[in-house]
Amino acid sequence: MSAVSPAQDAASGGWIVLKFGGTSVSRRHRWDTIGRLAKKRADETGGRVVVVVSALSGVTNELTAITDGAADTAQRMDALERRHREFLAELELDADAVLGERLAALRALLADPRAASRPLDWQAEVLGQGELLSSTLGAAYLRAQGLDFGWMDARDWLDALPPQPNQSEWSRRLSVNCRWEADDGWRERFAAQPARMLITQGFIARHQDGGTAVLGRGGSDTSAAYLGALLGARRVEIWTDVPGMFSANPREVPDARLLSRLGYAEAQEITTTGAKVLHPRSIKPCRDSGVPMAVLDTENPDLFGTVIDRSAATVPGVKAISRRNGVVLVSVEDIGMWQQVGYLADVFELFRTHGLSVDMIGTSQTNVTVSLDPSENLLSQDVLSALAQDLQKIGRVKVIVPCAAITLVGRGMRSLLHRLPEVFSRFGHERVHMISQSSNDLNLTFVIDEADADGLLPQLHAALIDNGAMPVQEAEVFGPRWREINGAVRPRPRPWWRGERRRLLDLARAGTPRYVYHLPTVRERARQLKAVAAVDHRYYAIKANPHPAILRALVDEGFGLECVSLGELRHAFAALPHLDPKRVLFTPSFAPREEYEQAFALGATVTVDNVELLQRWPETFRGRSLWLRIDLGHGDGHHEKVNTGGKAAKFGLSAARVDEFVERARTLGVAIAGLHAHLGSGVETAGHWRLMCDELAGFARRIGSVGILDIGGGLPIPYSADDEPFDLEAWAAGLAEVRQVHPAFELAIEPGRFLVAEAGVLLARATQVVEKDGVLRVGLDAGMNALLRPALYDAWHDIVNLSRLDEADEGMFDVVGPICESSDIFGRRRRLPAATAPDDAMLVADAGAYGQAMASTYNQRALPVEDVLDGAAG
Ligand code: ADP
Ligand code: ASP
Ligand code: MG
Repeated sequence: MSAVSPAQDAASGGWIVLKFGGTSVSRRHRWDTIGRLAKKRADETGGRVVVVVSALSGVTNELTAITDGAADTAQRMDALERRHREFLAELELDADAVLGERLAALRALLADPRAASRPLDWQAEVLGQGELLSSTLGAAYLRAQGLDFGWMDARDWLDALPPQPNQSEWSRRLSVNCRWEADDGWRERFAAQPARMLITQGFIARHQDGGTAVLGRGGSDTSAAYLGALLGARRVEIWTDVPGMFSANPREVPDARLLSRLGYAEAQEITTTGAKVLHPRSIKPCRDSGVPMAVLDTENPDLFGTVIDRSAATVPGVKAISRRNGVVLVSVEDIGMWQQVGYLADVFELFRTHGLSVDMIGTSQTNVTVSLDPSENLLSQDVLSALAQDLQKIGRVKVIVPCAAITLVGRGMRSLLHRLPEVFSRFGHERVHMISQSSNDLNLTFVIDEADADGLLPQLHAALIDNGAMPVQEAEVFGPRWREINGAVRPRPRPWWRGERRRLLDLARAGTPRYVYHLPTVRERARQLKAVAAVDHRYYAIKANPHPAILRALVDEGFGLECVSLGELRHAFAALPHLDPKRVLFTPSFAPREEYEQAFALGATVTVDNVELLQRWPETFRGRSLWLRIDLGHGDGHHEKVNTGGKAAKFGLSAARVDEFVERARTLGVAIAGLHAHLGSGVETAGHWRLMCDELAGFARRIGSVGILDIGGGLPIPYSADDEPFDLEAWAAGLAEVRQVHPAFELAIEPGRFLVAEAGVLLARATQVVEKDGVLRVGLDAGMNALLRPALYDAWHDIVNLSRLDEADEGMFDVVGPICESSDIFGRRRRLPAATAPDDAMLVADAGAYGQAMASTYNQRALPVEDVLDGAAG
């Protein structure tokens, strides 16, 4: 392979190859974009441009139906002709002058005597017509716009490789590879074409016999890659109908993240395992010749897209999840000769004989199972039956079809297994036929029935992010979500602390670590909840942040208080001596008897969650009115440690023992006035609330005395830029529906985090900035003793350098604390100003909930001080 010499490069300005897919060439305004982009690239670089085009969208499908021998060939041909004529009319071009000859050539092929037996060379010629038509009409249109475009026949420049010994006849003609090492003189001949910009076909190449060969479905990307490699191009740009390569097919997973930058190996793996956006064979030519690739959106040409090149950062973690349909599994059972040398060779020999290329393999002593990929093989019924017949001689054959292969792709897959619990549990619900792990440690694949795969990818994608297996915070690799790019994401509100920077810097100077709470934000959240008409009673779960000023603010806003210990009860009444005890709930877990007794004495509403306490301490409860907390048997939440429902959780009365509880209560004259369930914290699934209310209402009806359903808290807040604010409107609408369905019951809520998390920040001072083995760390004078959530839950908190808020975040730091624990880390690989230095004031955001409340003096470090801001920004 000859590289471009610097002299050549300078003389020619280098080549850029632009490939436009089917949808990109099917509308007039997109051809305007093509012309504009081609010219822009040529002008920018002072070089030259080759435009590679696919057939108009859907055309190759029609041609494939024809080559497959569809009965209605004549109608299909008419429709194809009409489609092209109509498009030419839209382009204001004379259809006969531009495409007359090409359309006649296609009709002639269909009338060809070969059409009866449909030999492969004829099929390739027919299939190639789509690109010949589109490139011809495109050249005419671009020239009509005054652009200097030359048309070329790709078959004069791309040669199919000679047939490989084991290659099937089908792939020798319809799924060919091409040579991408330029012969002497190839580049000179190519460059001698007079026009500054050239347009040609994707998908087609010259067969060794001089006829036409095609590169397989989606192969136009690979045509562009071959030309890029042959020319030693500066860049190959793949222009398509999505703004880049995503962490999953965005049409199936709207939350898929843009992959801004990838290395060739990961890109290769993502495309091989099913991301149709790039043809799998397009990566290698570019990789081997060092040509960078980009994936871009023709409809939104200014979006950044995906860049694939050698210098992409290597970041461990799952980058994408992809899915291939139509996978065939062939399993051979009871192989009698398993102890013999070479039995696997015998099995695979038969696949070779039938020209089938094997994808994944699983073996045991008596079974061999292989998967066949439909894009690499002609998996016709005939081929499979013939294979099965031969394999019968070796063992019992089972063909499982259609299957879907779902693959997680990313570097270091094996060391990520501990982050995949939810992924495994989702697959646990399906019948998994095969699990395969690639030897390059880049993928993990699950093969299941195709029907079972529907709806699975969005769930898996979310689980990968939640469990930290997909490191979406790595801004070098991951860009925005597809939904976000399409403007379908509600942004996070601007945080209050940006407007309070001056006051916060003063406070930081007065001493750190320090929590600062912003009461206007607390009130704003309270008012948002007060506006939810379906809710009758609101309690603040004070465990989130019991600061007296916050309790007073929320009681002023009409909230009651929910306490979980006698200590909290006393604290609440101390902060608000005139608080009406009717506005206080007591919801302890495994508390001693005297706490219940004192709570009754204080006049609080007590919630219990087991039968045993009625049995053991009947006198404490006799004649009382109580609320009962039920475990509905399932839970949810932002982390397994805050999932409070289900068998493994200590909370709540088992639904199976409700009758027993009711019976016991009756004998003690206890009235059950309310029912409570709380499934977890940070719950984001909308359907969860509706289900929970329906279940609680069912119990309430059975019990008879219940007037209030307490649906707990658990409202999430958007901790990271990746989170959306909780959809309060949708929630309110859901609860309104619940009230309508169950009008007999009043609803109570008891949020904590939602009211206070965003209102609080932790201020700290940078102590040291240290580089070690390539990792830059900034230490703070606050650690996990001050804010435990990152260490305990892997929780995300935004971190900013308040002293340098106006500087660009161009440095990358691990942010750590001073505690002697390896988990004392607030965040890894965080973007901060490069100049971040000791004594800078640092701010950890959204720390108002479970911050100071969970803080300790571990390592004999003092608790943070606390301040409250109220009123206008100073
Ligand atoms: P073109 O006709 O431009 O070659 P394709 O239809 O071949 O376009 O490829 C683009 C399509 O690939 C997208 O519309 C999208 O549905 C699909 N796709 C599958 N997986 C991915 C992924 N991981 N990222 C982006 N697109 C994907
Ligand atoms: N037109 C061909 C196909 O639809 C090639 C391509 O679009 O990449 O498969
Ligand atoms: Mg494609």
